[in-house]
Amino acid sequence: MKFSPEHDALRRSARQFVEKELNPYIPEWEEAGRFPIHEVFKKMGDLGLLGICKPTENGGLGLDYSYNLVVAEELGRAACGGVPLAIGVQTDMATPALARFGSAELRDEFLTKAITGDYVAAIAVSEPHAGSDVAAIKTTAKKDGDDYVINGTKMWITNSLQADFFCLLANTSDDKPHINKSMIIVPAKTPGISFSEPLNKLGMRSTTTAQVFFDNVRVPQRNLVGVEGMGFMMQMMQFQEERLWAAANAIGGLDHLIEQTIEYCKERSTFGQPLINNQSVHFRMAELQTEVEALRALTYQACEAHIAGENVTKLASMAKLKAGRLTREVADSCLQYWGGMGFMWDNPASQLYRDGRLGSIGGGADEIMLGIICKLMDILPKKQK
Ligand SMILES: Cc1cc2nc3c(=O)[nH]c(=O)nc-3n(C[C@H](O)[C@H](O)[C@H](O)COP(=O)(O)OP(=O)(O)OC[C@H]3O[C@@H](n4cnc5c(N)ncnc54)[C@H](O)[C@@H]3O)c2cc1C
Repeated sequence: MKFSPEHDALRRSARQFVEKELNPYIPEWEEAGRFPIHEVFKKMGDLGLLGICKPTENGGLGLDYSYNLVVAEELGRAACGGVPLAIGVQTDMATPALARFGSAELRDEFLTKAITGDYVAAIAVSEPHAGSDVAAIKTTAKKDGDDYVINGTKMWITNSLQADFFCLLANTSDDKPHINKSMIIVPAKTPGISFSEPLNKLGMRSTTTAQVFFDNVRVPQRNLVGVEGMGFMMQMMQFQEERLWAAANAIGGLDHLIEQTIEYCKERSTFGQPLINNQSVHFRMAELQTEVEALRALTYQACEAHIAGENVTKLASMAKLKAGRLTREVADSCLQYWGGMGFMWDNPASQLYRDGRLGSIGGGADEIMLGIICKLMDILPKKQK
């Protein structure tokens, strides 16, 4: 992939934002279990960072996905995973389908404000009994007059406690599970919505994650995204951008941790010589960086195919799978070389060890990625009837 001076300028702008507006405050936000999301998003909106690929008529920059990838990589250099995750939810998980399939009226009302940073978005798909198996969700949206009436419970919803709207997946008929779902935009202040306490998580501590309860929540039918019954398909498409974003974001974090670990191993001495001089250490750093370059090549290939309008389900699933696994490997190896310092809570390696663990679970677990890849390689056994 060839980057232009415009890509470089955007990369600089995103890096500056991370260094000046995020990193100095992250320890405080991690401790508090939340960050001032509206304030941070407003600053990002002013810089155009929340609508890179979004339509210009809604205030987006209308650029191709390679520009988004550059920003996702830079956000990976933030001193925690939680704040970038909250941003990724806004830009690449809760709004791609709205941008692509939402009516002009719906986009004006919600997407434009998500791009300026006035609104915080959340994606509400998973349920207590249905995470990997999206088709098994139970939340319903039943027509009543001009409205939908929504009932159900969503689980582990990132940004939920600070959100202005949800991009919600619900069953709108009793038809087969892949054609009975619809995507509906639900304002968070609608009567009937309530929340659990913030969930106590291993990592991603600066984001708010909660259960969201929908009890006879009434929204106008014009809040439907695209065509009724096509929600599952739209969510599967939306997942491709989520997975590309997750891979690119992981790359930034991996590069950064390897750089920081090399610096530490140059400064730290054992037995009269810098740690980095041990062949087991410098060979391992070289090996890990090689793996990161392989992930980068795969992710860039997927990005180019996405820009060319190809179906990237296989490549994006591969990139997401590799990113999740490599994050665990890099975080674990780097933590080892920081020794006791690596076991401290605020250490960059322990931070990635905790936050990065979500990469193999959220947005489709590793095994789900493997299933998709197998299906597209035509080696997935057919279900016995
Ligand atoms: C911090 C956090 C934030 C999240 N944010 C959001 C959000 O904003 N919006 C949202 O909708 N969801 C969100 N999720 C939910 C997330 O997407 C799900 O947790 C994920 O999809 C896995 O679903 P599950 O937890 O129900 O695991 P399950 O589906 O119960 O699976 C458990 C494990 O079993 C294995 N497994 C599952 N199926 C198979 C199979 N067919 N073959 C082999 N192994 C299998 C996998 O290893 C999987 O991890 C979030 C989760 C977390 C932890």
